[in-house]
Amino acid sequence: MSSSNMAVARKAAESAEAPRILVIYTGGTIGMKDDPDTGALVPLDFCHLVDNVPKIARLGYQLAHVQMTPPIDSSNMNPSHWREIAQVVAENCGAYDGFVVLHGTDTMAYTASALSFMLPCLGKPVILTGSQLPIGEIREDGTGNLITALQIAAAKDPCTGRPMVQEVAISFGRFLWRGNRATKASSTDFGAFRSFNYPPLAEMDLHIRFNAECLLRSDTAGGGGGEAAPFSPLYAMDDAVSVVTLYPGITPAVLRAQLEVPSLKGAVLRTYGAGNAPTEPWFLEAVRQFTGDGKLLVNVTQCPAGGVEAKRYATGDALVQAGVISGFDMTCEAALAKMMHLFGQGRSAVEAARLMQTPLAGELTCDGAVA
Ligand code: ASP
Repeated sequence: MSSSNMAVARKAAESAEAPRILVIYTGGTIGMKDDPDTGALVPLDFCHLVDNVPKIARLGYQLAHVQMTPPIDSSNMNPSHWREIAQVVAENCGAYDGFVVLHGTDTMAYTASALSFMLPCLGKPVILTGSQLPIGEIREDGTGNLITALQIAAAKDPCTGRPMVQEVAISFGRFLWRGNRATKASSTDFGAFRSFNYPPLAEMDLHIRFNAECLLRSDTAGGGGGEAAPFSPLYAMDDAVSVVTLYPGITPAVLRAQLEVPSLKGAVLRTYGAGNAPTEPWFLEAVRQFTGDGKLLVNVTQCPAGGVEAKRYATGDALVQAGVISGFDMTCEAALAKMMHLFGQGRSAVEAARLMQTPLAGELTCDGAVA
């Protein structure tokens, strides 16, 4: 699959001033249908999807779409697909007011995190959505999710006339979440996503109510102050990274098999609670060997909410002494995508360690209270 397989198809414009939105259809349940032979859901093309939502035309927007060929279940997503999506956005950023990415829910939070680092200072909305039930079914959540995502992508700040949302976000059910703060929290609930460490960017009931003080502005892209930087996409992602999840009973052989991969440049270590891990000598020795080889190990908690307070317990402090750095309150999805991004940009482990603890796209809260 390559971007040459993606063709932009335009729909007749209602009016020249109508919002211009590009829909990027990657697949996922929203556009799936039962395979008559197996009974399992398989992705169909974009025409199937829009045929089921004729009222989309009533929005009066100038809509165009790009489709991945073939559309995929998001379990098959990988960094080359992220690049493809980012390229479509970057190459079309002058021609559209906003972008809606239709995507499976399973890996949506990873893609949203990756896009947030690949498209710094875009200054326009990139709204990911999908659904738990296919749009062609009688009872479904895809129609509402799609229409709401289009409306959010088209929304303008009434004071400035600039896009209301200037970042990568996930619109799903009743909430709009920052993409690199979101996680898939339910495989059945129509509110599939949650962001445990950051408030919703908008709440959707009868109205779409934006939470203005939580929205990222392109002149404060990292979450701090600063001048507006020019948009310049950063596509390269390095997959020489990994995620290691701790569990009671993890053996030296299993840990070593995961850490002693020669090509690895870094790993996300999913620890317990406030960032705690075993203090048994074999465990700390394996960790020390990894960090001592100049590789980056970043501590994120397995808890959905809260973050790493590495020095709160002796079990967390031992990791700090072994060279593990805190990922604060980052989600695992964001930490992984950020590490791929930093190594993709050719950063050394030392530089990457510093930047892992610096907000680049609003992905972490770094209030100095934790280390
Ligand atoms: N397996 C599907 C996917 O991620 C699930 C979904 O879309 O909800 O593509």
